[in-house]
Amino acid sequence: MKIAVVGCTHAGTAAVHQILAAQPDAQVDIFERRADISFLSCGIALYLEGMVPKLESMFYDSPEGLAQLGPNVHVHLQHDVTALDAHFHRFEVQNMVTGETFTQDYDKLIVTTGSYPVVPPIQGVSLPRILLCKNADDARAIKETAKEAETIAIVGGGYIGVELAEAYSRTGHHVLFINGVHRLLSHYVDEPIGKLIEAELNQHGVDTHLNEVALQFDSDESHAYIRTDKTEHTADFAVVCVGFQPMTELVEGQIATNPDGSIHVNDYMQTSDPDIYAAGDAVAVHFNPTGRDAYAPLATNAVRQGKLAGINVLGNRVKYMGTQSTSAMRVYNHTLACTGLTLDHALRAKLPAAAVTLKENYRPEFMPSTAPITMRLVYNTDNRRILGAQLYSKYDIVQSANLLSVMIQNKNTIDDLAYVDMLFNPHYNKPWNYLNLLGQAAVEQADRAQ
Ligand SMILES: Cc1cc2nc3c(=O)[nH]c(=O)nc-3n(C[C@H](O)[C@H](O)[C@H](O)COP(=O)(O)OP(=O)(O)OC[C@H]3O[C@@H](n4cnc5c(N)ncnc54)[C@H](O)[C@@H]3O)c2cc1C
Repeated sequence: MKIAVVGCTHAGTAAVHQILAAQPDAQVDIFERRADISFLSCGIALYLEGMVPKLESMFYDSPEGLAQLGPNVHVHLQHDVTALDAHFHRFEVQNMVTGETFTQDYDKLIVTTGSYPVVPPIQGVSLPRILLCKNADDARAIKETAKEAETIAIVGGGYIGVELAEAYSRTGHHVLFINGVHRLLSHYVDEPIGKLIEAELNQHGVDTHLNEVALQFDSDESHAYIRTDKTEHTADFAVVCVGFQPMTELVEGQIATNPDGSIHVNDYMQTSDPDIYAAGDAVAVHFNPTGRDAYAPLATNAVRQGKLAGINVLGNRVKYMGTQSTSAMRVYNHTLACTGLTLDHALRAKLPAAAVTLKENYRPEFMPSTAPITMRLVYNTDNRRILGAQLYSKYDIVQSANLLSVMIQNKNTIDDLAYVDMLFNPHYNKPWNYLNLLGQAAVEQADRAQ
């Protein structure tokens, strides 16, 4: 069987490893536009602030590594797949170095073409001092430009914007942080936690401009100018990070896609064409809190879906269990961890929902130290199922977000969370674990509302 994989970052790399682990002699042709594979973009902010000195250390695989996985593996770097004919099981490829074009046929195809940064329809967004942040080249360009810079504008208050704002406040730059809506991280947190993050950034000198929409960019040799609906800002350069969109032009009209362009797949990562599988940022996830397709471009989804595509392309065996889009980030000396829906998103999805917020020390006050955790739990007021959670603390609460993620996956209720068995030892928590207490706060609120 001839298997072709188009796109080789996280989803593509995971799929290839899986196929060859199961069938080392499989014929696998991998096509990637770039000259590299498997770049961990999640380390870009750490590279920019200097914690990770070498960008090269953020690649976890190589073309040579993939080629060694089996005798019939062919890695075609700097090869652009330009057109697909799903009916005849073939596609057109251009060698980007020689310009040569050829046709490749396949028995099964895995589409892992990922996403690209949203380029807002703003005038001037493609000017030289207006940069994007997605791949290794972008990281190098930002790092280089920042060397001479004093003021850096970050446009877009999602997690990449917050990470970059923090990184550049740590390197002594003046950071102008512009976000079109009134809350940072609005896909991840509700107002109470959004405010805490904004305060933390401000405390570190980040100049936040919320509810301010960038309308036009301009630049000259040394500056970027950002005109917003409120004023005009001047910076040495600007990074625009307002989200991602699926890169699926290749499959348009050939397989079923959602209105946002993301590919619709079944539980086996199979598209509407049974011989085409897809995974990663190109694909819509099954979002368990709503039970619907959603666009959630995360590396965690990409590696899971990529591995499943690699398994199922050899015969549908293992189902994808969907996602809660669980994620975490550092905000200076705090950790933010989130899973599932915010209250705003739950209400927008027309779910009967409420949220409770609780602040609680993670372990007893008699211990030499403790730290408060601000927690928010979103739940369905009809069936009391947990829909989402946000945790923010100096204490490492990431595994708590993972636990809540599993509870959402398993359709657990606030009552389950209130009384589920959790350990107690004063080093680690109180007789009631803080998550039990969060569940109990939700139960009390829900009971009062009845
Ligand atoms: C700054 C930053 C920080 C991030 N931090 C996190 C994090 O902390 N946690 C997390 O879970 N996620 C994070 N992400 C998201 C994560 O990086 C993406 O979800 C992940 O890269 C998706 O992997 P993918 O393989 O689906 O797609 P992509 O990484 O988009 O790769 C797709 C590949 O396909 C290639 N390609 C596309 N079309 C063609 C074609 N026609 N022919 C040939 N090749 C093609 C592209 O060149 C590309 O290499 C971050 C992203 C960024 C940018």
